[in-house]
Amino acid sequence: MSERTSFKDLSPDELRERLEAQGHERFRADQLLAWVYRRGVAEPEAMTDLSKALREELCAEWNFRPLSCERIDVSKDGTRKFSLRTNDGALIESVVIPEARRNTLCVSTQVGCALACSFCATGAMGFDRNLQASEIVDQLCIAREVLGADDPITNIVFMGMGEPLMNLPNVLRAIEIFIAPKAFAMAPRRITVSTVGVISRIGPLLEAAPVNLAVSLHATTNAVRDELVPLNRSVPLESLLGTLRSEPRITPRRPVFFEYTLMAGVNDSPEDAGRLPNLLRGIPCRINVIPMNPHPDAPQRAPEKAVVDRFTQVLHEAGMIVTLRRSRGSDIAAACGQLARRAPREATTQS
Ligand code: SF4
Repeated sequence: MSERTSFKDLSPDELRERLEAQGHERFRADQLLAWVYRRGVAEPEAMTDLSKALREELCAEWNFRPLSCERIDVSKDGTRKFSLRTNDGALIESVVIPEARRNTLCVSTQVGCALACSFCATGAMGFDRNLQASEIVDQLCIAREVLGADDPITNIVFMGMGEPLMNLPNVLRAIEIFIAPKAFAMAPRRITVSTVGVISRIGPLLEAAPVNLAVSLHATTNAVRDELVPLNRSVPLESLLGTLRSEPRITPRRPVFFEYTLMAGVNDSPEDAGRLPNLLRGIPCRINVIPMNPHPDAPQRAPEKAVVDRFTQVLHEAGMIVTLRRSRGSDIAAACGQLARRAPREATTQS
């Protein structure tokens, strides 16, 4: 990895301090933030309102590009998957999902993942390392460069490769840059961080940043969840849901989004649907039901449409707020659970 200072690892305040310590005026930090995050310029030579000496210093000592884009696969539904190479050669992926009035960027937070969920292609890779904040932030920079100013990213979900709460300091640093007024100035409510249940870090996340929390639930019994999410063996449903129930920052105005991937014959029975309302009682929440996106690393399959409809119907009748999520980008292995730095020949490029 480059030994130069990685610009996108510094929060705006740290950048100001750093430049001041190097003898530069404080306002230089705001100029730099505007060039890099507002205008999407990654080459100091192009930052024309900076002195020549500062530009030369930046070129020599700073790294503005921690990722390079190797490949973009485009799904027939418009979803784009970005294959991105880190400076030390690791391959990660991020995904842009276009919808009617928004573009959602799904970012990765780790190279691989140690939690080994049985339905997840990333989990099958094993764990390599945490991503630096700069490597998370650059996923947004690259997506913005590719989409252009007329097609902005409006939402960010931390649901790509890796468990975000296992890399909380760097995730928080990236969020700080996403929401900083002088950087991307995104509304925190347009950012969602997902976890499978790293309960000790849920409070610190919500305390540090007023973002949305998503919890990958996927089961209504410990026996089934133990198989799908091995972390459940040490953090069973009672502990996970108890933590959420007692978390004061989870309110009807700031509910939890439970993600429930429906897998045929595994967690899709009417009994499962019937158990959910009781299980989640007392937790302000919404439920996103996602039919399983099949991939070669997992045996699970999506249920028939009638089974999906019956499942969501039971939840509706119990008064729960339920959204059935359409699978997006599954033809390019960009859908939930499918991200796994496959070799380019295994993916299908459509543009
Ligand atoms: S679902 Fe999330 S936590 Fe589980 S293995 Fe995949 S990336 Fe890791």
